Amino acid sequence: MATDDPTDDEVHAAIDACRARIGFRRGSAPPVGDFRLTRLHLLEATITHHIENREQKPRHAPGIVDLSALPLYDNLKDYKLGPHESPRGRPLVLLQRGSAHLGPCNCGNGRRQCARCAGRTYWTCEPAKACPVCSGVSPCTQYVLHGNLPGTPSKLPKPGQPGERVTCQGCQTADSACPGCRGWGRVRCDDCGASGRIACEECGRKGTVECGTCTGSGHLTTWTEGRITWVPELDSVVPVQRPSRIKPALDSAGWRKEFLKADDPLPDDLSPAHRSALEPCLRPRDNEQDREATINRLTVVEARSSGSHHYQYYVFRGSDGRLKAEERISKDGRRMLWAVAAIAALILLAVLLTVA
Ligand SMILES: [Zn+2]
Ligand SMILES: [Zn+2]
Ligand SMILES: [Zn+2]
Ligand SMILES: [Zn+2]
Ligand SMILES: [Zn+2]
Repeated sequence: MATDDPTDDEVHAAIDACRARIGFRRGSAPPVGDFRLTRLHLLEATITHHIENREQKPRHAPGIVDLSALPLYDNLKDYKLGPHESPRGRPLVLLQRGSAHLGPCNCGNGRRQCARCAGRTYWTCEPAKACPVCSGVSPCTQYVLHGNLPGTPSKLPKPGQPGERVTCQGCQTADSACPGCRGWGRVRCDDCGASGRIACEECGRKGTVECGTCTGSGHLTTWTEGRITWVPELDSVVPVQRPSRIKPALDSAGWRKEFLKADDPLPDDLSPAHRSALEPCLRPRDNEQDREATINRLTVVEARSSGSHHYQYYVFRGSDGRLKAEERISKDGRRMLWAVAAIAALILLAVLLTVA
């Protein structure tokens, strides 16, 4: 029995106190001595293995980069961590000796061709577009007269408003032309002012933009970066599940907590069952550099009456260290409640049928 396991007398006292608190009104209460006590020794442990990972990769950054603060290595796998170097939580970043160089960016001068206008400084646009009023479909009612006329005038009209037909600028027939295009079917494009070109906003009409790789400096520092990372891998050990009826209530129970570092021995008073559940998970894994374990233990005493009674009790230490009992309805109790409910329903049905 672990040191803080409650004695039978303590368990009975806790059940008595619980029944007194909720007012034991159910008549046939069994004497507390009638309870059969079962002790459940709960163990909930979390083990964190810190697994080391080493990798190197080429890096580059714009302009001149100060790498003087990074520790140097020759061969990453041979690098020995210093007393103040710990990759726990965040990676340790290193620089391969002799790998840093300042060189020109492949853009040449810090600028690259503008992708939006392909270096032309403008976007192309149609100088004319279909009339917004007639869509270019019915520009003039006398369109047959346009046979020998030029298709477009030297100066396309600005788009007009919908309304009455006007004199056609092509065939000069009165009241025949669409007011939007005056008989031409097409109007000048306002986007480009009929010039066919729109200045590129992306590059401000320069045809080039700042190079994103070197941020305009024209130079890049390249180097080989080494990274040492400790990735936490978690193991959880729960050899015995909490009794389902008081599962949430045990969150606030007074668990005995112990925190073990990698070289700490298991607690002396650990039961053989708990010890054999924990030991396999405490074996070092490949590339393990450190390990911690948090062990939570709690004894829960389940008290069932040996006669047919409808309540059972769970006794365990609360967060204040004092024993407390939680009352739950027993299997028999639930069966009886269902029976009572069923009888009540039958009586109600009989009454309803008689009235009808
Ligand atoms: Zn016309
Ligand atoms: Zn028109
Ligand atoms: Zn245009
Ligand atoms: Zn451009
Ligand atoms: Zn560049």
